[in-house]
Amino acid sequence: MKVIKPGSTIGILGGGQLGRMISIAGRNMGYRFITLDPTPDSPCGQTADRQIVASYSELEAAKKLANASDVITYEFENVNADVASVLETTSFVPQGSRLLKITQNRIREKSTLQSYEVPVAPFMIIQSENDICRAVESLGLPFVMKTAEGGYDGKGQWVIRSESEISGAIETWKKADMDMIIEKFIPFSKEMSVIIARNSQGDSKTFPPAENVHINNILHQSIVPAGITVEQKREAEALAIKIADSLQVVGLIAIEMFLTNEGEILVNELAPRPHNSGHYSMDACMTSQFEQHIRAICGLPLGDTTLLSPSVMVNILGQHLRKVLDKVEQLPPKAKLHLYGKKEAKVNRKMGHLNFLGSTTEQLLQQIKELQIWD
Ligand code: AMP
Repeated sequence: MKVIKPGSTIGILGGGQLGRMISIAGRNMGYRFITLDPTPDSPCGQTADRQIVASYSELEAAKKLANASDVITYEFENVNADVASVLETTSFVPQGSRLLKITQNRIREKSTLQSYEVPVAPFMIIQSENDICRAVESLGLPFVMKTAEGGYDGKGQWVIRSESEISGAIETWKKADMDMIIEKFIPFSKEMSVIIARNSQGDSKTFPPAENVHINNILHQSIVPAGITVEQKREAEALAIKIADSLQVVGLIAIEMFLTNEGEILVNELAPRPHNSGHYSMDACMTSQFEQHIRAICGLPLGDTTLLSPSVMVNILGQHLRKVLDKVEQLPPKAKLHLYGKKEAKVNRKMGHLNFLGSTTEQLLQQIKELQIWD
């Protein structure tokens, strides 16, 4: 197994906040960083040794990144397939391009999960107007229509609740001119996620499941420990291990799940990288998800993921930043602020997050409410 020792250079495809936090964790361990991103002075550009300013699909720029790196990782999954294959031939890309290819497309992702007998929401692939009608017949209302590729934070996704909305769904599908899926709407009692790291020796370690609260389809809070039973926690972790082993993951993979009203766990989505719902681990776990990702791709032993304290992570979106800065002196002593160095605080743009630590998650949720930042 190849070991990339501290002192080596890690190349990160993408210069956003995930890259930034990977590089901060890796710098502590003595690694050097180079990132590729089209925006000059990107969040990761600020914390890496160097940034190549270029579009993600520019092959020459990707080659430059490869030449300057001992190992390459990515911080987002929509990496251009041509770029990924060039990087794989010229450089060490332990995560590989197969996992990228699977997770870039919901049809491939869900079909792969089904082939491993992982429970997912019932779905149908939509390639014609007739398929939509067939899906309605077999899955019923309400349903969720999702683009196969490119959606995030609820973009490229429509919930259809009544018969009268079906013609609108057909129009949307026609206009988008993209492959889509229709999923049965799952009335879940909770959303949760498990992040798991696996290295090329096949060792894996899960992080404690996070209970996730979304507002307008954007992650708002991650609550850890999640309010689930010991048995549900065990089941969620076992599913994560099954998925990571079946996909032969190297690095991190985040697994988003629904806990249905009947207590069944269904896997919704995979992200082959550090994940917003794992940011709590930066302050609440023995090893953060970012350090763990580096350990996994560099062939180092995986770190201990013990939860050191109950924690609630709250995202700071563009519309929250001013209030957070105004109240920064009032934050409790066990609240840890992380800002990503983004210039423009646009509405719904992820600008940072706060990790609140304390004795119970109930107490932390009350503390957060009293701050009146997210009202
Ligand atoms: P996704 O892009 O698949 O992660 O979906 C974004 C959010 O939409 C999820 O976090 C859920 O809150 C909601 N959602 C997605 N799919 C479904 C579904 N089949 N049933 C109910 N809610 C869903």
